[in-house]
Amino acid sequence: MNNEIFLLKQGEIVLKGLNRRRFEERLMANITRRLHPYGKFRVYSRQSTVYVEPKAGVECDMEGAWEALKKVFGVVRMSRAHGCAKDPDAFFEAVKTYLDDQLRTAKSFKVESKRADKTFPMTSIELSQYVGGLINEAYPNLKVDVHNPEMTVRLEVRDFSGYVHANPDPGAGGLPVGVGGKALALLSGGIDSPVACYMMAKRGLALEMIHFFSYPYTSNEAKEKVLELAALVAPYCGRAVVHIVPFTKIQEELRRSCPEPYFTLAMRRFMMRISELVAEEIGAEGLVTGESMGQVASQTMSAMACTQAAISMPVFRPVIGMDKEEIVRIARKIGTFETSILPYEDCCTVFTPRHPKTNPKPADFADIECNYDFEGLCKEAVAGIERVVMRAKG
Ligand code: ATP
Ligand code: MG
Repeated sequence: MNNEIFLLKQGEIVLKGLNRRRFEERLMANITRRLHPYGKFRVYSRQSTVYVEPKAGVECDMEGAWEALKKVFGVVRMSRAHGCAKDPDAFFEAVKTYLDDQLRTAKSFKVESKRADKTFPMTSIELSQYVGGLINEAYPNLKVDVHNPEMTVRLEVRDFSGYVHANPDPGAGGLPVGVGGKALALLSGGIDSPVACYMMAKRGLALEMIHFFSYPYTSNEAKEKVLELAALVAPYCGRAVVHIVPFTKIQEELRRSCPEPYFTLAMRRFMMRISELVAEEIGAEGLVTGESMGQVASQTMSAMACTQAAISMPVFRPVIGMDKEEIVRIARKIGTFETSILPYEDCCTVFTPRHPKTNPKPADFADIECNYDFEGLCKEAVAGIERVVMRAKG
């Protein structure tokens, strides 16, 4: 018999007043979807906690499910709770069985009980006192401290079973993916853009991704690497739909007719406009990039004003104020770093100007873009998009 359940404490969503129900439903739907590969679970919420119970008689992969739930945004704390009979002494036995290691090393504790089954013969306070007394006798190292205990032993009297659990693990934090609407993230093969995806998904945005691919200047391995990155961030973002845009013709056109100092920004204006067209098509309301202030010539304030001016949709740049080291730390945490540093070229690095224009102005592009059919080339690129849906990894 499977006698373990998970308790997931909702985060900020409890603060959201009237939207609370919508947030909670989204969180439960996201949790249910993430659990799908690991068995059949009952998912429901009570008092800002989501309960995840394996369905009776079904073999579930509890370890896999637990790991997957660590990547679900909207959960601040998570506990594994162990089942026991609904009897005061059985609660104490379960505490000794499952929490022994923690109880031996802690210095202070308290017991808190929750009673969903109102037919249970003791009140919550009586149950806490009873089990607390037994713990106090069994572990001489522990003192009761109701204000600031090192360890809080929690007892739950639910309809079909009792449960014990203690200090929870941190959850992924953030807001449930989807509550903030949808955005389109520009995913390159670098370190920054997967981190940007993670950060915006954390604030509740559902994401699709777009990648600009310049075959044969960039190789199929470079494309595979980007798809791999999409699969790695998918557990956080929910899905990994990647729009692969054929970008070769535009780059060749630019090489022919764009003054070299403006080359990168002219190319990035194409990227923004094409992304905006795709975003409109898929119902996304903003774009996301991995730009960081001053990181390269195309990421100065004036350069970003030029790329933003090509479109009217907002561009979100969650790593804008972060140092590379800080971005790398997150990339390692979410498991994208090792893939990001694989040595494949990106279309941005293929034709890099020797002397990029310093202090460019959006107005400069009026003259440049009359050398080619900006809108026409954008539409043609959109028509050639390949849409790939990746399976989430991890
Ligand atoms: P990353 O930021 O992912 O490490 P990078 O540092 O090489 O890549 P740039 O090439 O300056 O950054 O690009 C800045 C941002 O533009 C990227 O973070 C990404 O959002 C977007 N971008 C760059 N190249 C591409 C591409 N080929 N396809 C899609 N988006 C791209
Ligand atoms: Mg970058």
